[in-house]
Amino acid sequence: MCFENVIAEFFYLRKRLQEWGKQHLRSYPWRFSNDPYEVLLAEFFLRRTGPKQVLSIYDEFFKTFPDFETIIKGDKNLLDFLLHKLGLHIRKKQLIEMVEYILLTFEGQIPCRRSLLLRIPGVGSYIASIFRCSICECLDPPLDANTVRIVGRFFNFPINDSSRRNKKFRNALTLLMEPDQPRFYAYCLIDLGSIVCKPHKPNCLNCPLNPACCYAVNILS
Ligand code: SF4
Repeated sequence: MCFENVIAEFFYLRKRLQEWGKQHLRSYPWRFSNDPYEVLLAEFFLRRTGPKQVLSIYDEFFKTFPDFETIIKGDKNLLDFLLHKLGLHIRKKQLIEMVEYILLTFEGQIPCRRSLLLRIPGVGSYIASIFRCSICECLDPPLDANTVRIVGRFFNFPINDSSRRNKKFRNALTLLMEPDQPRFYAYCLIDLGSIVCKPHKPNCLNCPLNPACCYAVNILS
């Protein structure tokens, strides 16, 4: 039998997930930064490119462009070069729109309210969620391919193209996150989906969620 929706059961699973995260969480610099600008920009880059590429320009980018103003007024050639290295040169226009919007509308202070974040050009539901978890200490489960897959398998929900916008998936993912550590659990679940609960051949035997996961109960029993 898979999960029974008992509070104590999810408490136990979150503890297991926490232990897994302490050993396996990937330690990228943006995951430890408390600078809203740095976190937002890093997550913006990551939507279209991988962590390795972002790491390759990370220090140089934030040293040269330490805030929103420097993106507008700084070295355009270097900005082009770094975005090109990320393969994001075609998104430069959107980056500039995002920066101008934040400067004009919020005087450079990125808001925590979800509805305001979603008005910023280039900020979608996932970026808004991960920003709120990381900077605002809000429990706002980030739904991406990895976390949707975990929720679908764990709760036995059918997955389709709209699952990332599905409230049922958001609410279910919330059950797997400790409310007072949203950032840690958000990254735990993202990494668990990438390292363990892979699209093909999930490693259920070594997954901290296996005691109550519907998918695992079916294949391991
Ligand atoms: S037990 Fe298996 S299917 Fe369930 S979340 Fe873990 S890896 Fe995914």
